[in-house]
This record gives sequence, structure tokens and C-alpha cells, in this order.
Amino acid sequence: MDFSFTEEQELFRANLRRFCRDKALPRLKEMEENRAIPDDLVKDLAEMGLIAMSISEQYGGTGLDAVTAGIAAEELAWADTSCAIPAFFLIQNAWGYLLDKYGTKEAKNEVLPKVRKGESFLGIATTEPDIGSDLASMKTRISKEGDGYVVSGEKSYISGVREVERYGGGYVTLARMTPELGARGMTLFYLPLKDVPGIEITHLEEMGREGVSWGGFHIDDVRIPGHYLIGEENRGFYIVHEGYEFARGLIALVCVGAAMRSLENAIDYMKQREAFGRAIARYEGLQFALAEDYSRLEAARLLAYRALWMYDREQKGDRLSRFEVSKAIAMAKMLSPIWAFEAINDAMQWQGAFGYSKECQEQRALRGVRSFTLAEGSTEVMKLIVARELLGREYLAYR
Ligand SMILES: Cc1cc2nc3c(=O)[nH]c(=O)nc-3n(C[C@H](O)[C@H](O)[C@H](O)COP(=O)(O)OP(=O)(O)OC[C@H]3O[C@@H](n4cnc5c(N)ncnc54)[C@H](O)[C@@H]3O)c2cc1C
Repeated sequence: MDFSFTEEQELFRANLRRFCRDKALPRLKEMEENRAIPDDLVKDLAEMGLIAMSISEQYGGTGLDAVTAGIAAEELAWADTSCAIPAFFLIQNAWGYLLDKYGTKEAKNEVLPKVRKGESFLGIATTEPDIGSDLASMKTRISKEGDGYVVSGEKSYISGVREVERYGGGYVTLARMTPELGARGMTLFYLPLKDVPGIEITHLEEMGREGVSWGGFHIDDVRIPGHYLIGEENRGFYIVHEGYEFARGLIALVCVGAAMRSLENAIDYMKQREAFGRAIARYEGLQFALAEDYSRLEAARLLAYRALWMYDREQKGDRLSRFEVSKAIAMAKMLSPIWAFEAINDAMQWQGAFGYSKECQEQRALRGVRSFTLAEGSTEVMKLIVARELLGREYLAYR
């Protein structure tokens, strides 16, 4: 067993911490007010090789492993605790990786190099107004027409729609192709959004993560070429989960990064704030809670890195079962947002009235981390996955 990162990974983390402190941290308020990541910061992220870094070198990426992407997710969230930059990072990284793995050469050539340079956004669209967790019941349809496909339906609660409007790009999208086959009849494909006839974009406001947009789109008989297919027809449900697993592992580290930063802030505050004649850091009531929060975050961190390490091994063809990886990832994604939320909430409490003010950055972290009990799969769905692996598929409630 070796719990250490490689020298390159340590160096990557140190460089990233410096970049985040100098470039991202000073821009948080501006991002919040403008509800967008500034263009020059997107450029900086691209120049640092951080956008869709896990795609192969052939398409401009670094092809780095999931663990190294996890380091980036954790560090970005340490700096931008609102989770906007980390969300921007993790979405394009996980779904860029999936498109790279399963997309056609033509689609990859068209989409990935631009995404890597920050000139185009790539997201994920599975959720609809009436379904989120129960993917196999979705209504969006894709059918074959000539050499290509026709798509109709609606996607909602989708991250990044304004980024697509700004930069161009589109979504790894899931739809039903053969409804009578349920999960075995779903197809994954790339759907461009900008200036596409039949696409109408809608907007929503999130309670946190202000630098990344949220919304949806209507898809009215949109024709796409055959080379936008991702993987094989009717295999989409299974392929999409490989992307979800990558994203979920990164999310677990985003939550840890944001919450660790809140604990650091709270520790500084507790040492200088006095009550009843001494620093509040001296009171065991606070010390015990701090020790518990920190230990839980460290446990979540270990679970997440182990899960991403397993993901890497499985993706490289080691003999690890898909289901074992799903379980490890689900455990991390189940615990991390909740423990992070509780740690941030405690950090607010220890900072007294200041902790409740907008000046205190913990409110930002609390709102950002809160999104991750839902985004990319809810906490309850993570529990279903873990329980499914413990009990066996025959005990799934919905079978
Ligand atoms: C900030 C944010 C960003 C998002 N970005 C995207 C995106 O980019 N792309 C995208 O496709 N989607 C996105 N989503 C949607 C997200 O994936 C869904 O919210 C999530 O999958 C849950 O689906 P739902 O909201 O429809 O809840 P539902 O599936 O309707 O569930 C409602 C509640 O019931 C629980 N529940 C459902 N079934 C069960 C069960 N069998 N047992 C126990 N509990 C159950 C759920 O956990 C949830 O708490 C985003 C969501 C958020 C909050």
C-alpha cells in the first residue's frame, strides 16, 4: 500500500495552489456579481492545461489520470469555494474524457480541441423536467433518419447553457431509441446547441455556484449527423455511467477542497477571536467538533482518491469489476457533500455573526457544496448503488 502522490502530482498540486491563490481567489466576488467566469480566467485555465485535461494528447489534452484530475478538482475548490470554477472544470473533464473514449474521430476532431482551448463548452444532458434519477423513463427520443438521427424532447437543470451560448459547444446527451427495451434501448450522442435550428435554450438561477450557468433546452426535431453517435446505439445508458463515475469522484474532492478551506478560515478566526477572556480556540466544545469535521473530511478525501485510483485501474483494463468501481465512487459521492456541508456549517457557526454575513466566504461554500447532493446523481441514488452491490440486484426496489 502506498498513500503518497507521485513527485509530478505533488508539483502539479503546488503549481495549481499558486495559480489558484493568485488568479482565481481575487476574482470570486466579480464572478458572483457577473454570474460568469471571466473570459481571461477561462483563457488562463486553458493555458494551464486544466480544461478537459484528461482527454488524449491527440486532441490537445494531457491524457492525465483520474487521480491527477482529482487533485485539480480539490485545489480549484480550495480557491473557489463557491464551486463554480471546479464545476466548470469537472464537467468538461469527465465528459470530454467520455467523448474522447467513445466518440467518432470526426466528432472528436470537431469538438475536443476547441473545448481544450476554452473556446467551446462541453456538458452533460440527461435530466428532463419530469425525470432525473430514473433515467430509463426519460422522454427525449432519438431515431434514425438516413445517415443521421433526429432528436426531440427537453432537457432541464443543465449546467453550462450560457457558456455554450457564449463560446459555442454542446452536450453529451442521452435519449431513448428503443423504448420497449428500457435502459437497454438508450443512445448517447453529441448535441451542439448554438445556432442550431430546433434548439431553444432556457435559463434558471442556481442558489450557489454563481459563476456557472444553469438552464435547459427544448429539442424540436433536430437533425444530427451519424458521426455524433457516442459508442453504440442502445448502449448509451451503460456508457453514460462511466462519465458519471468520473464526475462523481471529482465532485467528492471538490466538496473536500471547499470544506477544508472553510476549516482553515475557521481555525484562523478561532485563534484570534476572544470570548470570556480567552481565544475561543481554547474551548473544547469547538475543538472536538473541529477534530470530528477534519477527520471526516480526511476520510472522505481518502475514499475519493481511492475510488478515482480504482477508476483509473479499471479504465486501463486491470481486472477490476465495473460494479466495484461504481460502489467505491458512490460511497465517496454519498458522504463527501454531506460531511463537507456540515463542516462548512460548523465553520460558519464558530465565526459567530460574522459567519452569517456575506463578507464571510463560508456562505458561498455552503451554497456551492449544497448542489452536490443532487448534481451528477443524488445522495439517495448513491445509497441505492452501494446497497445494490451489498445485497444483489434482485433486491433493487424498482425491479
Ligand atoms: C446544481 C445542479 C446542476 C445540475 N447539472 C446537471 C447537468 O449538467 N446535466 C444534467 O443532466 N443534470 C444536471 N442536474 C440534475 C441532476 O442530475 C438531478 O437533479 C439529479 O439526478 C436528481 O434528479 P431530480 O432532480 O429529477 O430528482 P428526482 O429523480 O425526481 O428525485 C427527487 C428526490 O427523490 C429521491 N429519489 C428518487 N428515486 C429514489 C429512490 N428510488 N429511492 C430513494 N430516493 C429516491 C432523489 O434522490 C431526490 O432526493 C443538476 C442538478 C443540480 C442541482
